[in-house]
Amino acid sequence: MNFETRAIHAGQEPDALTGAVNVPIYQTSTYVQDGVGQMRAGYDYARTSNPTRSALQECLASLEGGRYGVAFASGMASIQGVLATFEPGTRVLAMNDVYGGTYRLFEKVLRAQGYRFAYADLTDLDTVERELARGIDLIWVETPTNPSLNVVDIEGIIARKGGAFVAVDNTFATPIYQRPLELGADAVVHSTTKYMGGHSDAVGGAVIVRDPRAHEGMKFVQNSVGAVPGPFDCFLVHRGMRTLHLRMAAHTEAARAVTDWLREAPGVSDVRWPGFAGMVCFRHDDATGIASRTSVFSLAESLGGVESLLEVPQAMTHQSVEDSDAAVPADLVRLSCGIEDPADLVADLAQAMGLPVPA
Ligand SMILES: *Cc1c(COP(=O)(O)O)cnc(C)c1O
Repeated sequence: MNFETRAIHAGQEPDALTGAVNVPIYQTSTYVQDGVGQMRAGYDYARTSNPTRSALQECLASLEGGRYGVAFASGMASIQGVLATFEPGTRVLAMNDVYGGTYRLFEKVLRAQGYRFAYADLTDLDTVERELARGIDLIWVETPTNPSLNVVDIEGIIARKGGAFVAVDNTFATPIYQRPLELGADAVVHSTTKYMGGHSDAVGGAVIVRDPRAHEGMKFVQNSVGAVPGPFDCFLVHRGMRTLHLRMAAHTEAARAVTDWLREAPGVSDVRWPGFAGMVCFRHDDATGIASRTSVFSLAESLGGVESLLEVPQAMTHQSVEDSDAAVPADLVRLSCGIEDPADLVADLAQAMGLPVPA
């Protein structure tokens, strides 16, 4: 079946008891057993498994072109989950402008546990080759990056990876525009809080893999660490994913209109948009002033919801990377273009910059 059909149907078997067309929210912590060790449908305790979560995981796996999805309580929990399948001493090569939270996890939590991190510009494949020659076990790719929207050539990395495990944070592109597993990556990670859920109403994360051994490892960490999403959040993310294809097309058109206008706007420089999805960034001397004057774009952290959001990363989401390789300029504005009328988004930015609103 094609992507759009799988978005609607993967993991959505009608409920066996009632025929409910949606998988119910199984709000339970445990399941009655018919005898000692005799589970009715393979469910014994809800940290280990839950039918609402299983349905979401199946849909995640299907849309990413993987075989297995493993859902976590947040994007960060899913990133920690991947690293937890490796031992301390593991040598990790990461993009030099990874998401600030990822950088904080690597530097402030995992480094002290013995993991070894190096950062490089993974958009430059010569640099990648040089770094890999020093011995790397895990390559941590994020593309496009948050917030600078740098794009990494995943196939170029795969061609040079040697024996390294390649994990790709696909939060910004989503499987609509990029399916790393199909390009040869070993794992895909999402903050499902963002585009996958798509409505700014749930925090979640996921890891998707193809290899059964990698899946066993991820499932073991999911159950052992216990950073699992609740059934209601699983339901919300899964419900959001059913319209992923429609939403992403609208996000892209909104971002295209905003980018076209920004590129001509006086005072605006370094406009970046990878050509897909709704994330746009630019620089402006009055970044904080603009942030205080928009009304359709809400001033808020996070991204990927149907409503447009705006933030100044250096002061809001990326303080944890200040003075580091991943530092971002203070005059950088990041937009998450929602699915409102693109003309209203352009008009909002124009008035916030004191520029004429296009007719
Ligand atoms: C938000 C984000 C994360 C972290 O996800 P949470 O759900 O907030 O824990 C990781 N990677 C990227 C690219 C993100 O944008």
